[in-house]
Amino acid sequence: MIPLVDLKAQYDSIRPEIDGAIQRVIDNTAFIMGKEVSDFEAAFAAYCGAKHAVGVSSGTSALFLALLAYDIRPGDEVITTPFTFFATGEAISQVGARPIFVDIDPITYNLDPNLLEAAITSHTRAIMPVHLFGQPANMDAINEIACRHGLPVIEDAAQAHGSTYKGKRAGTLGASACFSFYPSKNLGCYGDGGAVVTDDDHVADRVRSLRDHGRINKYEHGELGYGHRLDGIQAAILAAKLPHLDDWNAGRRRLAARYGEQLAGTAAVTPQHLPETEPVYHCYVVRTPKRDATLKSIQAAGVGAGVHYPIPLHLQPAYRHLELGPGSFPISEQAAHEVITLPLYAEMAEAQQDEVVAALKSALAA
Ligand SMILES: *Cc1c(COP(=O)(O)O)cnc(C)c1O
Repeated sequence: MIPLVDLKAQYDSIRPEIDGAIQRVIDNTAFIMGKEVSDFEAAFAAYCGAKHAVGVSSGTSALFLALLAYDIRPGDEVITTPFTFFATGEAISQVGARPIFVDIDPITYNLDPNLLEAAITSHTRAIMPVHLFGQPANMDAINEIACRHGLPVIEDAAQAHGSTYKGKRAGTLGASACFSFYPSKNLGCYGDGGAVVTDDDHVADRVRSLRDHGRINKYEHGELGYGHRLDGIQAAILAAKLPHLDDWNAGRRRLAARYGEQLAGTAAVTPQHLPETEPVYHCYVVRTPKRDATLKSIQAAGVGAGVHYPIPLHLQPAYRHLELGPGSFPISEQAAHEVITLPLYAEMAEAQQDEVVAALKSALAA
């Protein structure tokens, strides 16, 4: 069986660094906040090229706290795409705002800027593009429209650690950005974790307060907040892994290019990226109209392929009340029917990749 991702192979390659980091936290009993967290925050902010990174308990809480930091509340609207992980829409709904979906570009799977302006109303308070599968959205076009309407752009960068747009890293492409360190993300911890990255001092301060019960100091609470802190062991693991991120992303890009060469001329449409982006292939996604049969066949051949994502957000049971039926966002719906995520991780052997390609070719020829 070839897995979609192999977290054990990555751990085996850096075991002493990880074990040492975890032991150090235990020896110092620095379990909550403290130096491990602030050291990682400084390192991750520097890596992104931003002023602040604020560690939080997950990517979902990063999105939620960032939206709160911009005072987004009931009655407000936040624009995003329906072709994303559920948490993007969920965070918007959790602050009481309404997610307004804009369909995607069929080539990049990211928010189509040509459809953006028509979705802006007097209630719009933010735009949340998703850098899906590790490719930054078309940020110049999105930022130009956002700027004209005075709206902050909050990146959902949960799949895009280290990716660039015109040489700038995800995390610095809008007003603020939200990262997830879920274990299988390009930079993942050994549990849940996330961060809000921003140059905005006010937003950083608000997230720092909100993640820790609205604290202004040890005993005073300026507002009602949350228990959404990043813990010390996760921060220490992330700090140990961060120096390897560029190599891992380069490994993913090399294997992605190899998939592209080997699958050229087949019925599988391979990923394309905007020339101004350098993607990090959080997922390597191909598409074919015969998706379900193809997926079944390659899974039967031992390929741990997956689907990201089979149900667009507007068709999720939780969003039935939005009354956005099938046909509302045709490009997202078609993608949801056609995409397959192939195994890809930096440690993957070429022989394993050859097996995936052979299984896919034979499934497509059937
Ligand atoms: C993973 C992910 C999230 C949520 O992150 P968690 O850490 O799992 O809460 C949000 N948005 C996108 C696009 C993601 O891929």
